[in-house]
Amino acid sequence: MEVLKNYINGSWIESKEQGTIDVVNPANQEVLAKVPYGEKTVEDAAMAIDAAAEALKEWRNVPVMRRVQPLYKLKTLIEENIDEIAKLITLECGKSYAESAAEMQRGIENIETACATPTLLQSEFSENVATGIDEFMIRQPIGVCACIAPFNFPGMIPFWFLPYALACGNSFILKPSEKVPLTMMKVFELIDQLDLPKGLINLVHGGKECVDKLLDDPQVKAISFVGSTPVARYIYQRGAANGKRVQAQGGAKNPVIVMPDADVDMAANIIADSVYGCAGQRCLAASNIIAIGDTNGAIKEALVEKAKSKVTGFGLDEGVDMGPVITAESKSRIENIIAQGVAEGAEVLLDGRNASISGFEHGNFLTPTILENVALDGEVINTEIFGPVMSLLNMDSIEQAVDFVNSNNFGNMACLFTSSGRNARTFRNQANAGNIGINIGVAAPMAQFPFSGWNDSFFGDLHGQGRHAIEFFTQTKVVIERWPKEWTRKF
Ligand code: NAD
Repeated sequence: MEVLKNYINGSWIESKEQGTIDVVNPANQEVLAKVPYGEKTVEDAAMAIDAAAEALKEWRNVPVMRRVQPLYKLKTLIEENIDEIAKLITLECGKSYAESAAEMQRGIENIETACATPTLLQSEFSENVATGIDEFMIRQPIGVCACIAPFNFPGMIPFWFLPYALACGNSFILKPSEKVPLTMMKVFELIDQLDLPKGLINLVHGGKECVDKLLDDPQVKAISFVGSTPVARYIYQRGAANGKRVQAQGGAKNPVIVMPDADVDMAANIIADSVYGCAGQRCLAASNIIAIGDTNGAIKEALVEKAKSKVTGFGLDEGVDMGPVITAESKSRIENIIAQGVAEGAEVLLDGRNASISGFEHGNFLTPTILENVALDGEVINTEIFGPVMSLLNMDSIEQAVDFVNSNNFGNMACLFTSSGRNARTFRNQANAGNIGINIGVAAPMAQFPFSGWNDSFFGDLHGQGRHAIEFFTQTKVVIERWPKEWTRKF
C-alpha cells in the first residue's frame, strides 16, 4: 500500500516518519492509502519551513503581476482535472460527487479572486501631509505562511488561503487533514506543473507533532487554521504566544428561524439541504430549527417530508444526495448524542440510526434524523453534532428566538426565513453571528467576502478569503518622505 510522500522544495520526498495511519473510504472502510503520522513528521515540517524560507527571498520581490500568473494556470489545470479531483474528494471524504465538484468550484473562485491581488494591493498615498512631505503605506509579504486544514472540505479550504498568500509574495506550507490527504496530493501534482520556484509551496503530512512544529518555528510568520473549536483555540493561543499572526476558524452550531410569514415549502427545501448536505458535516450546516408561533405544524410536516426524500448512499452512485460521515467513531458519537437527547426528553420524528445501505453495509452511514421537544440546555442543542441531525424547536416570537440564538457560544451562521423586510432587518442587526442568511440556508460567503465567524467559531481578527486575506498575508509599512527643494539639481 502506498505511503504518501511530502512535497518539499519542489520534489516528492518520503517522510522521515515510519509510522502511518490509514486513509479510509468512509463508504466501505477500504484503505485508500497510508499517511505518515508520528513524531518524526517534525523533521519533515522543518525541511519544508527551511525550503519555504529560502524561496521567500526572491519571490517577495517578484512583481505582483507576475506572481499571479501561475494562479491563472492553476485554475485551468484544476478545471481540466475537476472530475478526477471530485471523485477523490468523494472517495476519501464521503460526500456526493455533485457536492465534491461544487466544493472544488468554490476553491477555483478563490483562485480567481486572488488574481485581483495587483489591484487589491494598491497602496494609500497622501501628498503634503506637511509642507513638502508625503506619506504612503505599502503592503509587504509577511513571510513563510502555514495552513492546517480540516477533513470536511479537502479541496476548497486550502484555497481560502493559498492563492492569496502566494499572490501577496509569501511562501506557503500546507498540512492537510490526515483523514483526507489524497485530494491535495492530486492538486499538488498540478502545482508541480507550474514551474514555481522550488520551496515556494510545500505539502507536509502529519498530526499534532507536525502542527506544533509549524506553530513553534520562528521562521513561520502566519498560521491559517480551520477545524474544531478546541483545536482552533489551542492553535490561536500557541501561535500567538510565539508572536505569529493567526486566523483560526472553529466549529459551529447554526440556528435557523422560520417566521409565520415565510414561504414554508421553500424554507423546508432549503433547510433540509442545509442540515443534510455533506451529511451535516459543514461548519455552515443548519442544526437548530426554530419555528415561530403557529408555523410549527406546517414546517414540521414539510421538513419531515423533505428529509425522507433524501437518498443516502455511496457518493459516486447516481442520484445520491447524502454520503456517509467521516469515521466509524464519528458515526457512533452522533448516535450517542441522539440517544442522549432522547434521554433528556426529545421525541424522535425521524430516526437515522441503524441505517444500512445495500452494498455498503460497513460504511459510516446515518440517514436524516429529526428530533423535537429537545431540552434547551441539553447536549443536542448545544453541541456541534457534525452529522445529519435536525432539532426542531418552537418559540413565540422573533425576540425570544434571537435571544436563544445569541445565548449560543458559537457564532458562525444564523439564518431567518421571512417575507418581511422589517423582520429581516431586525434579525440582521441583532443576531450574534458572522455569516447571516435571509431566506438562505447555507450563508457561505463568496470568495470576495471574508468567511466571518464570531465568538467560539473564530479566533483572530482577519478572516480567510477576499480582501481580509490580502490584509492577513501582508504587513503594512508606512513611509514618510521629504525631498527638500534646495536639493533639486539641474541636468
Ligand atoms: P480537527 O480540529 O479535528 O482537525 C483540524 C486539523 O487540525 C487537522 O489537520 C488535524 O490534523 C489538526 N489537529 C487535530 N488535533 C490537533 C491538535 N491537538 N494539535 C494540533 N493540530 C491538531 O477538525 P476536523 O474534524 O478535521 O474538522 C471538522 C471541524 O472543522 C468542525 O468542528 C467544523 O465546524 C470545523 N470547520 C470550521 C470551518 C469554519 O469556517 N469555521 C470550516 C470547516 C470546518
